[in-house]
Amino acid sequence: MKSLLIICDGMGDRLTDGRTPLEAAKTPNMDLLAERGITGIMDTVRTGIRPGSDTAHLSIFGYNPFELYTGRGPFEAAGAGIELEKGDIACRCNFASMENGRITDRRAGREEEGLDQLAKEVEGITIKGVKLIFKRGQGHRAVLVIRGKNLSPHITSTDPEKIGVPPSKSMPIDGRKESRNTAEILNEFTKRAESILSDHIANKERIRNRKLPANVILCRGTGVNPYLKPFEERYGIKGACISATTLITGVCRSVGMDAIEVKGANGHTDSNIGAKAKAAITALKKYDFVFLHIKGTDEASHDGNFNAKREFIERIDSEVIAPILNEVKDTTVVLTADHSTPINIRQHSADPVPIAILGDVRTDPVKRFTERHCAKGDIGRICGINLMDRIMDLSNRAKLFGA
Ligand SMILES: [Zn+2]
Repeated sequence: MKSLLIICDGMGDRLTDGRTPLEAAKTPNMDLLAERGITGIMDTVRTGIRPGSDTAHLSIFGYNPFELYTGRGPFEAAGAGIELEKGDIACRCNFASMENGRITDRRAGREEEGLDQLAKEVEGITIKGVKLIFKRGQGHRAVLVIRGKNLSPHITSTDPEKIGVPPSKSMPIDGRKESRNTAEILNEFTKRAESILSDHIANKERIRNRKLPANVILCRGTGVNPYLKPFEERYGIKGACISATTLITGVCRSVGMDAIEVKGANGHTDSNIGAKAKAAITALKKYDFVFLHIKGTDEASHDGNFNAKREFIERIDSEVIAPILNEVKDTTVVLTADHSTPINIRQHSADPVPIAILGDVRTDPVKRFTERHCAKGDIGRICGINLMDRIMDLSNRAKLFGA
C-alpha cells in the first residue's frame, strides 16, 4: 500500500466561545475520513513542547529533532534550492534598510525592486578562504550558506530584530575557536555587503523611486546542515512533497523527498489548494509516499482570525479531502496538523493535534474530525516520532521486530 500524509499547518486550536475552528467548521469529508478510519491525538514533538513547524515536521517524518535540529537556516537554504553539503552553516537573511548606521526597516519596506540585482552583487564572496553562497528567496528574504573548514553554528544573529539600532555583532555562543571564526566571517560579510549595497546603482534607483534602500543584510536562524539519512534508505519508500512553504519544502528535501511544484499554490489562505490535492493524487502513481502540506490554517491563526481559519478549513474539506476520498484507493491516508496555533494566543502551542488514519485500520466509534472527538479515538495519544512507524505498519511495509 502507498501512503498519503496531509498536514494542515497549525490547524489544532483551543476554544473560542466554547468551540475550536474545526468544531465550528462544516467538514463532511473530514468527518467521513474520521468515521471510516481510526482517530486519535498527537503530540508532534513531545508532550508540553511547543513545536516549530520545522521541528514538528522532522519529528513526524521520524527524525528526532532533539538530536538533529540546530536551526532553521539549513532548511530554508534547502527549500530555496541550494544543495547543502555536510557541515555547511546556513542562516536565513533579510534585506533591510539602514540610515546613519541604524536600521530603519528590517524588511527594506517589503519592496522587491532591484533585489535580484543586489543579491547577485553579494553572491560568492570569499572570506578567510571560506565560500559564502547567497541566494534570494521570496520577497525581502534570502539565505546565506557558509561553506568551508573550521566552522560552527554556535553563533548569535546579526539581526537585532528591532529598529533604531545598528546590526548586531555576531558572537560565539561557546568558547570554541570554530564558533569565533564563524562569527568573524559573518561580521565581515555584513560589513562587505553593506559597502557593496550602499553605493549600488539599484539602491540609488530605489531611493529615486521613493523606496527605502536595501543596504544591509541581517542574518538569523544559524544552523549546521545535519546529515539526515534519506527517507528511501530509512523506510525503503520513495517520497515526494507538495508544499508552497520554503521551510517545509526544505525539511522534505533534507530527508530526500522530491519537491513537486504546483502553480497557484502560495501558502496563504487564497492558495490554489485544489490544484495541490490534484498534484498529490497524481504523484501517488509514481511515489510510494506523498506528503501534502497546507499552510493557510496557520496564517489565519497567526492573524487571530477565527472565521478565516474556519472558512479555510471548509475549503480544505471540499477542495482537498473530498477529491482524495473519491479518487485515492489502496492508500493509507493520514490527516493531521504539525501543531496547534490557537487563535487566542496567535502562536504555536503544545496542545496535541487531531489525527485520523484511513486504510487497512480497525475503525473506532469517532465520527467527527475535531480535537475533542479524536481524543476519544482508538489511536489514543501518540507522539509524532512514532507516526511513520504506524504508517509503515498500516501500509504493510513494516519490518518484523524479532522472529
Ligand atoms: Zn507549522
